[in-house]
Amino acid sequence: MIRRLCIVGVGLIGGSLARALKAAGAVAEVVGYGRDPAQLQLAQELGVIDRGETDIAAALLGAEVVLVAVPVGAMEGVLRAMAPHLAADTIVTDVGSTKGSVVAAAQRAFGAVPARFVPGHPIAGTEQSGVAASFAELYHKRRVILTPLAHTAAAAVATVRALWQAAGAEVVEMEVRHHDEVLAATSHLPHVLAYTLVDTLARMEEHTEIFRYAAGGFRDFTRIASSDPRMWHDICLANRDAILKVMDSYAADLAAVRDAIERGDGAALLSIFGRAKQARDEFKQ
Ligand code: NAP
Repeated sequence: MIRRLCIVGVGLIGGSLARALKAAGAVAEVVGYGRDPAQLQLAQELGVIDRGETDIAAALLGAEVVLVAVPVGAMEGVLRAMAPHLAADTIVTDVGSTKGSVVAAAQRAFGAVPARFVPGHPIAGTEQSGVAASFAELYHKRRVILTPLAHTAAAAVATVRALWQAAGAEVVEMEVRHHDEVLAATSHLPHVLAYTLVDTLARMEEHTEIFRYAAGGFRDFTRIASSDPRMWHDICLANRDAILKVMDSYAADLAAVRDAIERGDGAALLSIFGRAKQARDEFKQ
């Protein structure tokens, strides 16, 4: 049981964790920090937080654990504002989709990454944003990746692990760089592709016709293009190197498919599509 949890950035991700921990009886009090009193008021009315604060010092006072759930581009500024007001034993964790950038932001904000700072990333979300979209079941049976550093305190990692487990998640640990490479491939690239495909089609002359006749395949492939553009702008810039690497691989493979179609090379197409189907079918199980 956490006595007081402070959520910095009460949106989809932070709000959903607050809801899940409350539902599980794993937290006594949730204090929300935000810039907009109206959003904090809404979060309180929805029962997501018990109290809202627009003053960071007041928000952090007496917090046992602080969850930072702001966009990755806002992390450094927020951590800097938090630094002077954190008690020595307060555990801080985050949910940012990129971990190298958050660790670098923590290093700059605190001078050195504190031993009680546990970088984390829930592999769960929706294309919605904001506290109104939050729900208690978001993390149920979903993975959360923690990327502690060599000097991160084991007790802090254990507390953060227990917090996510109470929300129904399975917690795994990974190195920061490995996390950023894996997520560039499995999450960041698909978002870039979905945004680009929808933008390409939307700019085609007959776009109303295209969208009118779009079928399930289009919907499956492009749902995530409804995600918050600002959030994905932040992620692309924060994980630039890993995303560029996987984009280059994808571009080369797409060029090979294009060549095969141009040459009428059905065997090459069958080989690529067959390999992909097998991999996708195995992933489903
Ligand atoms: P969200 O619903 O838009 O919530 C973001 C929250 O951060 C809002 O409460 C916003 O409040 C606050 N915020 C934004 N900029 C801020 C700033 N400069 N200072 C203080 N507060 C600020 O976004 P989300 O989907 O929960 O994403 C939050 C984090 O989770 C991001 O780092 C994202 O990478 C990560 N994440 C997202 C997903 C996903 O699928 N959505 C999945 C895993 C991880 P105000 O703007 O009202 O102040």
